[in-house]
Amino acid sequence: MPNRTLYLETMGCQMNVLDSELVEGRLRALGYEKIDDMTSADVVLINTCSVRDHAEQKVLSRLGALREPKERNKDMVIGVIGCMAERDPEGIFRKMPHVDLVCGPGELNKIPAMIEDIQSNRRRAIALSQSLSRKSTPLERALEYDSVEALDLSRDPAPSANVLQSYIRVQRGCDKFCTFCVVPFTRGAERSRPPAQIVDEARMLADRGCKEVTLVGQTVNSYINRDGDRPVRFAELLERVSAVGGIERVRFVTSYAGDFTDDIFEVMRDVPEVCEYLHLPVQSGSDTVLRRMRRQYTVGEYLDLIDRARDFVPGITLASDFIVGFCGETETDHDASRRLIERCRFKNIFVFKYSPRPATVADKRELDDVPDAVKRRRNIDLLRLQEGISLATNQSLIGQTVELLVEGYSKAALKAQEAEQTRGEEVSWRRSDQLVGRTATDRIVVFPGKETHIGRFADVRIEAATALTLHGTIIEASLRGDAVPGPNGMSLPVLNAG
Ligand code: SF4
Repeated sequence: MPNRTLYLETMGCQMNVLDSELVEGRLRALGYEKIDDMTSADVVLINTCSVRDHAEQKVLSRLGALREPKERNKDMVIGVIGCMAERDPEGIFRKMPHVDLVCGPGELNKIPAMIEDIQSNRRRAIALSQSLSRKSTPLERALEYDSVEALDLSRDPAPSANVLQSYIRVQRGCDKFCTFCVVPFTRGAERSRPPAQIVDEARMLADRGCKEVTLVGQTVNSYINRDGDRPVRFAELLERVSAVGGIERVRFVTSYAGDFTDDIFEVMRDVPEVCEYLHLPVQSGSDTVLRRMRRQYTVGEYLDLIDRARDFVPGITLASDFIVGFCGETETDHDASRRLIERCRFKNIFVFKYSPRPATVADKRELDDVPDAVKRRRNIDLLRLQEGISLATNQSLIGQTVELLVEGYSKAALKAQEAEQTRGEEVSWRRSDQLVGRTATDRIVVFPGKETHIGRFADVRIEAATALTLHGTIIEASLRGDAVPGPNGMSLPVLNAG
């Protein structure tokens, strides 16, 4: 098999991380080797995000940097895949004529054939699924569904970089059409995978050493499929995946507050494998703004849900997303978001400055009338407020012992390794350095440890805390389970959706 090289860069949410893993697996099976130097790769793929304008500008800047390498090597194949590809294929080809391949998120299984076609026939290739989903015949819809399924089912069973933890897609697309969001346009209608396929995939991952799976969907708790004539909803899916031997932790992202039902809390409370952590984007603390965003809940309903989460699942931690500076957002609306943060005491929040996305209702009908300086101020304000809450809650854990899964080396240790390699020195960090682990409640803990600890569960005594991280000492006698040494360490990317 020829030795060909692939540079694959992923931007955006966990959906994209999973898509990239699947595309990489498919290309690896065809003999491609992944490299870190974009300018010398045979095939360059950028998996893109359209949720914010900033993300698209970053893609264009990456593509711009490829002009010169492509001049030097006409055989290089440059591809744009994911949401931006689906949203604006003509714009990509117009602005970046050296791009060869554009492929939407529902058509990724076609990438190997597209690359081959480009290499043999020296012509551009394009595959989009929106054209299919807009057509209405059942066969065309079924074709789209098959195309999506083909990629998940072909998951490469060979060990990947992270054996310990994996994402499993349970659902694609979204039907909510929040007025600011481009996802329903780029990822199409909501479709849930059959439960048996998801359980099979969890089993396959467990067989290769995976202990923690994260079920991903744009509005994951809206999951619904059938088993024969019987509907299977998300709570049951959680139970079924948790029952797979070897899977010791089950997480899920991202939940949609408008669809959340108490049976999911019951499973979180009763099934030990299901982690006590919930990412529940609210987007704003003002009913006026929520209405304009067309979120299908009020602040009161959201707060009631948060209270029920804490009643049902003792010790649960909660995270949320906010958009600041949405069309017409006033200081009073902003204060309402502050009050909601103070009331909910989230573990952490993600805050985004609103930027209009083409084709969305907000872009067509609302005025982006909050100046950028105000958006920036409100963004910093919410983050500062949350930082104080996160620091106080983390500090309250000092002196306590927490159970965690040892995920891998901390970022600082990995940076030290890189630096040593760059200087040509022998890499010493593997012998003893900072490890990172995560509690079931998604708290990140850094502690000194050994490579043989990675992949095992352990108790760690917390000795110091910042707003983002806990620091502690491992209790060696508490180590349990088999080690899964390797790079590992999976941090969830941010998803401004759900
Ligand atoms: S914000 Fe979430 S729920 Fe709303 S349209 Fe986007 S993906 Fe769907």
